[in-house]
Amino acid sequence: MNLGDKIESHFRIDINQKKALAKLGIHEVRDLLYYFPSRYTDISEFRYINTLKDGEQATIVGIISNLQTKKGFKSKIPMGQATITDLTGKLNIIWFHQPYLAKMLKEGSTVRVTGKVSENKTYGLTLTNPEINKEDILPIDLHDSLFQKKEGVEQFGYPVYPESRGVTSKWMYHAINKILKSDCVNNIQDYLDKEILNKYKLPSLHTALVWIHSPQKKEHAEIARKRFAFEEVFFIQLARQQERKKYEELYSYKLIVKDSDIKDFVSRFPFKPTTSQSSTIHTILEDLKKDKPMSRLVEGDVGSGKTFVAATIAYAVIKNRPVGQSFGNLQVAYMAPTEVLATQLFENFTQYFEHTGISIALITSSGCRKFPSKSGGWKDGQQIKTWTPIAKNQLLKWIKNGEIPIVIGTHSLISKSIEFEDLGLVIIDEQHRFGTNQRMKLAKKEGHSPHYLSMTATPIPRTLALTIYGDLDLSIIDQMPLGRKTVITEIVSENKRLEAYEKIKKELESGRQLYVICPKIDETTDDEDKIKLDVKSVTSEAKRLQKEVFQNYRIDIMHSKMTKQKKELVMKEFAEHKIDILVSTSVIEVGVNIPNSTVIIIEGAERFGLAQLHQLRGRVIRSNYQSYCYLFADAKSDKTIDRLKALTKAANGFELAELDLSLRGAGLLGGDKQWGITDIGMEALRNIKMVEAARTEAINIIQNDVELKNSPLLANTLSAKNIKLHFE
Ligand code: ADP
Ligand code: MG
Repeated sequence: MNLGDKIESHFRIDINQKKALAKLGIHEVRDLLYYFPSRYTDISEFRYINTLKDGEQATIVGIISNLQTKKGFKSKIPMGQATITDLTGKLNIIWFHQPYLAKMLKEGSTVRVTGKVSENKTYGLTLTNPEINKEDILPIDLHDSLFQKKEGVEQFGYPVYPESRGVTSKWMYHAINKILKSDCVNNIQDYLDKEILNKYKLPSLHTALVWIHSPQKKEHAEIARKRFAFEEVFFIQLARQQERKKYEELYSYKLIVKDSDIKDFVSRFPFKPTTSQSSTIHTILEDLKKDKPMSRLVEGDVGSGKTFVAATIAYAVIKNRPVGQSFGNLQVAYMAPTEVLATQLFENFTQYFEHTGISIALITSSGCRKFPSKSGGWKDGQQIKTWTPIAKNQLLKWIKNGEIPIVIGTHSLISKSIEFEDLGLVIIDEQHRFGTNQRMKLAKKEGHSPHYLSMTATPIPRTLALTIYGDLDLSIIDQMPLGRKTVITEIVSENKRLEAYEKIKKELESGRQLYVICPKIDETTDDEDKIKLDVKSVTSEAKRLQKEVFQNYRIDIMHSKMTKQKKELVMKEFAEHKIDILVSTSVIEVGVNIPNSTVIIIEGAERFGLAQLHQLRGRVIRSNYQSYCYLFADAKSDKTIDRLKALTKAANGFELAELDLSLRGAGLLGGDKQWGITDIGMEALRNIKMVEAARTEAINIIQNDVELKNSPLLANTLSAKNIKLHFE
């Protein structure tokens, strides 16, 4: 057997199983070997049947048989019945009132049951109402592995693998055991350096593989998982550091910016920058002085003033000729994730740059604009449009010959048709939608690398940022501008719902607008939601609110299944106050600025992470009016309330992201689906020391050997892993 062999060449599987495995990403033997249990069933404490006595509480492991459901002879109570057999004897099981438990089990399967043993007149020694869950059905056949304990082999528990239709945890257990016994695992070479393993006390690859799949002690499973968590972050870091190093080897402009220029630009604003803004600007100016391109990510809550930082840096880049260049000025490209946001940025920039005479272009698929326009200015005491619509072709010419220094648009700015004369700086809003490959494309097209500044309001914990943005330096704006009103946040229980609606109506009456966020799009339930039918959906809640609560207001909806055009249209109408109430899923754009909407309702708040709630609340933060956030939560436990209360106390989104991580674990952050990191890798994110260690080791290796020529095994493993973090 070789690790690269196809599964079907060693295991008899039918076409459906093959499909099911493929769905789990398992094609080769290696994939299966690296398919790790999500948890372990502990059977270390079980008892043999012939040692049990009346009145004892015990756990028994054995084969189940004689499954039946019936009604009690006299009592007519519905009940389930079965026999459990181990090496030493048999025992009856009765489930009063729970006949379905007998239906859930299969004849001949091995189970773990825990319950009270008692002497029953009719049935003899009996286990009554033992608890049994899905994970108590063990992936073993009693005959092959029966009670290794009896033979003196300690076994901590049995692994439970995530299943897919057609492939059971039991199947995985046996298949993986076969692989573990084969030579390809016995002779497996470790791609991690012994020194690193020793330094962080991690087990070798062979040991870790055995321990993760069949641990003899709980500690073995834990340390094996720790190794694979470290390894995953380490490989991501290797890939990121390689990209970074390659990017830095490109030619770039060295810019020494005059302090007086920055002062001039900043002093025109009607406010003083916060300390956080100033120090971020300072750090960036230091980056620009170096002759390798800057790669920096600025994280800051919505409203923390990132656009101000971006504008100041853009001005610095345009105003100052690069060192050693005697002619021409550099250009700046600023990309936003949507047209609405690009347009909003353009409007901000036209105000910020009005006094400078610097031209700004906006390019979107629904039209292009140029600022300033010849006819713009003041008329009869009113400001008239300062920009003109303009044909794209003309605009492209001006960008190409360098007449327009600032170009704002969506990501289509990097499409082939747009050529810059001399691009010095690229600014990206919401980094996670823009990958390193795209950045490299920009660099190649221009023959030199522009400096790269990325901005995000997505609050994620530091460990996650260091991992997925491992190729970027990080600045955090953790201060809000002085005197900013805070959103009044209330956690509302169901019996206060109507009261809250009355308060909201007052806001609507005085001309404000309202967001309503629901956890689901419509009533079609998927499996997970079938249990929770009471979860509000966008479509039905919109109807209900229109009919029962806000009869006099215009309501529309928004969710991810609508087309992009439709979404943008709704957003535009909401911005123009043609809609009063927008009922939406959590998709509404990050950063959309609609100052007139001052109230947000979040339904099912207990289902969201704190950082996400904070971001949603950010929708109503921009206004000069007092704004409100109502969290409707099905908060049966005090814990839920306590968690939500953090929203009324935390200083910023990053604090909340850290709190989420410590309270609810890395699973909440999205893992594979959102970032391309497996569950095991996410476990590493709870441990800043581990993430920093993986990063330091990767940086050390890449600094001296970017192509990993000295570590061929590491290089091969890295390319086989084909790390694809999700950026778009
Ligand atoms: P972000 O892009 O981080 O969401 P913006 O840059 O759009 O935030 O800033 C939000 C608002 O705050 C804007 O109206 C901006 O002019 C204003 N602002 C920015 N910095 C300051 C500051 N230091 N003091 C007061 N207001 C500020
Ligand atoms: Mg912004």
